[in-house]
Amino acid sequence: MKTRLFAFFALTCFLGQAQKDYSDTPKLVVGIVVDQMRYDYLTRFYDRYGKDGLRRLMDEGFSADNNHYNYMPTYTAPGHASIYTGTTPRAHGIISNSWYDKFSKSTVYCVDDSTYTSVGTKSSAGQKSPFRLKTTTFTDQNRLHTQMRGKTIGIAIKDRASILPAGHTANGAYWFQGGDEGHWITSTFYMDELPQWVQDFNKKDPAKKYMKEWDTYYKIDTYVESGPDENDFEGGFRGKDKATFPYDLKKLGKENGGYGILSSTPYGNSLTADFAIEAIDAEELGKDDITDILAVSFSSTDYVGHNFGVNSKEIEDTYIRLDMDIARLLKALDDKVGKGNYTVFLTADHAAINNPGYLKSKRIPAGSFHMGKVNDTLNSYLTGKYGDLKLIENISNYQVFFDYDVLAENNINRQELQKDIAHFLLQQPNVDKAYTREELTSGEFNYGEISLVQKGFNQKRSGDVFIVIDPGYAGIGKTGSTHGSPESYDTHVPLLFYGKGINNGKHTDRTTTIPDIAATVAALLNIEFPSGEAGEPILEALAD
Ligand SMILES: [Zn+2]
Repeated sequence: MKTRLFAFFALTCFLGQAQKDYSDTPKLVVGIVVDQMRYDYLTRFYDRYGKDGLRRLMDEGFSADNNHYNYMPTYTAPGHASIYTGTTPRAHGIISNSWYDKFSKSTVYCVDDSTYTSVGTKSSAGQKSPFRLKTTTFTDQNRLHTQMRGKTIGIAIKDRASILPAGHTANGAYWFQGGDEGHWITSTFYMDELPQWVQDFNKKDPAKKYMKEWDTYYKIDTYVESGPDENDFEGGFRGKDKATFPYDLKKLGKENGGYGILSSTPYGNSLTADFAIEAIDAEELGKDDITDILAVSFSSTDYVGHNFGVNSKEIEDTYIRLDMDIARLLKALDDKVGKGNYTVFLTADHAAINNPGYLKSKRIPAGSFHMGKVNDTLNSYLTGKYGDLKLIENISNYQVFFDYDVLAENNINRQELQKDIAHFLLQQPNVDKAYTREELTSGEFNYGEISLVQKGFNQKRSGDVFIVIDPGYAGIGKTGSTHGSPESYDTHVPLLFYGKGINNGKHTDRTTTIPDIAATVAALLNIEFPSGEAGEPILEALAD
């Protein structure tokens, strides 16, 4: 025994290093975020899915059926940030897609960064970075853990859905530029020029082949899990009277953003899958034992949902086709990385409400909410009480931001004004709840909607008074769907794990929350948790 031990030490000393054993961990983790995917799209369309896509993840992997966002607002940027940081806007600071920045006194977009320039486009669409994200992602932690040997690549049609998941230390993050370009682009934050494989991919005009007719994949009379194709609750494309199949994308592209129209069709997801599959080979993802991470987000589901609503034939077709794109991605992972060598999780950045007009037609309390009207009423109330003092700097994202200088100059007590405005707002039609900064910073709420408001509240960046509108109400007009609220229809999203290190099963008996995802992946990879306050690993999903 002694001699053998000695021989082992002698050997490692001779080689100069002890090789770390990575055989327990996956070679590649693929994070799939489906933008605006409601949980019930798994169950409503289950019979429409093939065996190799979503059903493969559901039937062979682990499903957390009761998985929710635990904060508001339920939007794309906070959603992607929370999935990958394992925390909430309270800690990671991404309080919306765009928000009023009280320090620069201007509205900022979550990933805009003018200190960098575009790569791969003549436009300014590449001037982005993750600098507003205050905490680390599990992708960052994997980079740090592996001495930067494990790679991270982010891919999505939307810039924010690529950049935020890829974190601060990514090797690359790519997003889609529509218009007359139809290319994958990036920022000098990551690199000075596109890698050869991306240049080659772009040279083949990858978007061109999708500028074709969009008709239902199967015969339209088989689409029984959605409302009639022609109904009162859909938007549609400019240049076409009715929101009905088929859609001639080549023709409609002229009035709808050129190649950008693809983002609002299932072909945007196909284009994303094409590029992600190319990245696996080109970036050698999952080639060696050191874990790489591919963060893919399918954005087109969100655009289709906003435009046509969650009950549309267009949504049913988009999910049938997304299922095929996911099957294609899984097949590529089997071929290139090997079945059993990789782990996938799938979730969404938020869900969505049924069109309020549709709900109303079914006698469910619902309707449109007009924040502009509330702003006007509030302003006339304040003018009546305080005269021409401009006490309020901005109202956005259902938050009121005070001008602290004006308050100080006029000796107006901040807390009193918060209470006054909250009380006033609560008297307005369809305002369901109003909370003050004072309430949200005193004590910790564990239950109810106020806990969701509190976890979405960033002490430094958020406003002074918050409102939550009535369930069933949304800030949209007569057509389409939206999201953002703390109600179940916006918070309940799928969570599937599949592959190496994952049990086959599900739980319906307990609630999991979005921050649990990063904690679960960190536990799977045996790496340090991201820096924000963390969720809890879903141990039932993890094999011993
Ligand atoms: Zn959306």
